[in-house]
Amino acid sequence: MTGTEAYRRLSFWHDTVPDQLVPGAALQQDADADVAIVGAGLTGMWTAYYLSRANPGIRVALCEREIAGFGASGRNGGWCSALFPASLPKLERMAGREAAIAMYRAMQHTVDEVGKVVAEEGIDCHWAKGGTIQFARSPAQLRRARDEVAQARLYGFGEADLRLLTAGQARELGAPSGLLGGVFTPHCAAIHPARLARGLAGVLRAQGVRIYEQTEVQRIEPGRLITAGGTLRAEYVIRATEGYTPGLPGSRRAVVPVYSLVVATAPLSGQVLDQVGLATRPTFNDLRHLIIYGQRTADGRIVFGGRGAPYHFGSAVRPAFDRVPAVFAALRDTLIELFPALEDVAITHTWGGPIGIARDWCASVELDRAAGVGWAGGYVGDGLSTTNLAGRTLADLITGADSELTRLPWVGHRSPRWEREPLRWLGVNAGLRVMTWADRAEARTGRQSRTAAAFSRFTGS
Ligand SMILES: Cc1cc2nc3c(=O)[nH]c(=O)nc-3n(C[C@H](O)[C@H](O)[C@H](O)COP(=O)(O)OP(=O)(O)OC[C@H]3O[C@@H](n4cnc5c(N)ncnc54)[C@H](O)[C@@H]3O)c2cc1C
Repeated sequence: MTGTEAYRRLSFWHDTVPDQLVPGAALQQDADADVAIVGAGLTGMWTAYYLSRANPGIRVALCEREIAGFGASGRNGGWCSALFPASLPKLERMAGREAAIAMYRAMQHTVDEVGKVVAEEGIDCHWAKGGTIQFARSPAQLRRARDEVAQARLYGFGEADLRLLTAGQARELGAPSGLLGGVFTPHCAAIHPARLARGLAGVLRAQGVRIYEQTEVQRIEPGRLITAGGTLRAEYVIRATEGYTPGLPGSRRAVVPVYSLVVATAPLSGQVLDQVGLATRPTFNDLRHLIIYGQRTADGRIVFGGRGAPYHFGSAVRPAFDRVPAVFAALRDTLIELFPALEDVAITHTWGGPIGIARDWCASVELDRAAGVGWAGGYVGDGLSTTNLAGRTLADLITGADSELTRLPWVGHRSPRWEREPLRWLGVNAGLRVMTWADRAEARTGRQSRTAAAFSRFTGS
């Protein structure tokens, strides 16, 4: 993909970022660095940020196939949340109760860390820490709301972290149809993701970090990144390519790219906004199985996304997969079902992008110190803030800092590789179907779906 116009069309966020989206210089000859990073999304850029902040003389260089913030980091739903893809019980099984709690506390702290850095660095990403409201709109969803809060309590997370709301309390935050109650957590900010990603790229350049754009890494080897324009040699090389990882030699089965798709409405009138609510800009969803996510933007639109697009055979990732008219239509229908006041509101932007899912649904960060090779990812669509924790952790691992971060249970966690095709295609798409069917069945009967519960056990989440 080339041309600033093409980059602008990537998403509503790219369309409205105050930046020309002109690619920086590509790598055109062999070069050296201390740390070389593949991918200028938030994983790569946060790693560079914390490395260069702690060690001002360090030479960090990133190679990005397109432009900084091209991938999921620039086009996501803008939930800077404390969500982590593996549940507390799963982390407890992996690493023990205290480690599980430490991981979740670290995620909560990460939301504030991102808020602190954007304020310090003057990155205006429309930060609004309004929390998240999960609406319960059926008896089955209400039951899941209660279960979620009960589980949090078992691990010592109290009212200040997560609380059950009555329908009346939930309605004060947002007013969807069929409201029976909800769950609220304060640990989330709504942001404009492309402003964050592009703003961070600007901060990095000012710190002396090199970002080679339109520079595709063809191969990662210990001590070097091979590109068509030259070889970038470095003591440490870091893979930060998330949903695009299967395109790299040797990494085809590390994560599967699953597409998440999004729509944005035109700015809403004052009257419609009054009916929708969300005045404090909490991010929102409901407790259905197939993930949906929304936010009210700083300019009074609703940005609303969800899964449901198919997984493509062979873990293929192509620009054409970002746009699936049937999924956009389904998202619009769901949005109107939630907020009937949006019936006549135009959809101005539609887009999508790949998220990376590890085989055991658990994100991980690792540095093989002997080989000098590291990576982070597998965030399953919860990467906007998690990338910051990954970046801080990779920086500590690289510099050898003894920190609490490097003892968190996701550090050094190895997810199994995904199955070979066609099993991978069959399994992932069957899972996506099951969630859709389960939601339809629940909407019809109001009862919890056993199939979806079984699938949740399969993913271990
Ligand atoms: C539509 C959508 C909605 C989402 N919503 C949310 C949300 O609301 N909250 C949340 O927490 N998470 C969300 N996510 C997930 C989140 O955006 C990601 O987990 C996170 O941004 C991943 O960051 P990253 O830097 O690891 O990967 P990316 O941002 O995808 O960056 C990877 C970069 O690597 C580059 N690259 C790939 N291969 C190569 C190569 N060979 N050579 C050079 N460069 C290469 C790519 O061009 C890309 O820029 C969403 C994701 C999507 C797609």
